Amino acid sequence: MADVEVAELLPRIERVLTQFPTAQIYLKWTCPGCGDRVTAEEPNAFHTGGYDHVERENGTPCGSRYTGTQFGMLLVASGLNAADVLRLLHS
Ligand SMILES: [Zn+2]
Repeated sequence: MADVEVAELLPRIERVLTQFPTAQIYLKWTCPGCGDRVTAEEPNAFHTGGYDHVERENGTPCGSRYTGTQFGMLLVASGLNAADVLRLLHS
């Protein structure tokens, strides 16, 4: 799934959490500094101040901040029917 505007994502996430309160949805973005695909550390949250990329996948420091509005999502739906959750998330 391509990244979409966070204004569009947040209502979807809200909808999923209403129906599946134990789902964990992590925002993902592309780091403007190093180009890595980064996953937020905290699920089910959005930080309006932006996201810092502390460490790259290869272990070297990055330090770039992303303040853009395009995000993807990583869904953790353990114990849930992931297909049901995904359908709701993408509807
Ligand atoms: Zn980075």
